[in-house]
Amino acid sequence: MGVRADSGRQARRTLERLRRAHPDARCSLYHSSPFQLLVATVLSAQSTDVAVNQILPALFGRWPDPEAFTRARPAAVEKALGRIGMYRQKARHVIGLSRRLVAEHDSRVPDTLESLVELPGVGRKTANVVLGVAFGRSQGVVVDTHVQRLAQRLGWSGNSAPLAIEQDLMRLFPQKLWDTLSHTLIFHGRRICRAVRPACAACAVSDVCPSAFRAERVGRKAARVRPRAATQRERARRG
Ligand code: SF4
Repeated sequence: MGVRADSGRQARRTLERLRRAHPDARCSLYHSSPFQLLVATVLSAQSTDVAVNQILPALFGRWPDPEAFTRARPAAVEKALGRIGMYRQKARHVIGLSRRLVAEHDSRVPDTLESLVELPGVGRKTANVVLGVAFGRSQGVVVDTHVQRLAQRLGWSGNSAPLAIEQDLMRLFPQKLWDTLSHTLIFHGRRICRAVRPACAACAVSDVCPSAFRAERVGRKAARVRPRAATQRERARRG
């Protein structure tokens, strides 16, 4: 990949400059309680925050808390989620996690990684979002597609698997910066260091970035190989 390792001190200086470039970096999912943040984060898997935010006010207006979701008809929740991807599975997860919260956690969202990842539809990434944003006690770094790409481009990780990248970032930065780190990288990835045509000329850290002006091939996901459609002649030959 050709990116060099960065020292912790230099990485922290670079993060500080990125924070100054994106002072508004924060969780952009609509929510007004830890429970709503948990649901919003579960719904954001494979969907954009913008798309999820469009359905959340109506969703939480109708079902604001875990008790309300335990009384919901699955078909009604599916219909409310219908504009985002995997809505059937996500409806099952939201109802399932609500039931578990009511039955096992006194209707509260637990504040430990171990308890959160036991809930339906909640993985390490979702749990870290909730712990960092709702409770201010990150137990890991949220590694989404932006963090994954930027960690590689900035030379902070030579790995491509999210868990390995998370471990690299946790070694490089102190725990108190983990939450800020992921929000800042997500905002920088959305606005400047995009997957395609990153705006290196407008980037606040281009002088220290090992991928500056040659980043397109660093941190991109491999293109999905689709099976070739059979030609008309091949279909005719098969009968
Ligand atoms: S210089 Fe380019 S590749 Fe490096 S962080 Fe900035 S936008 Fe991304």
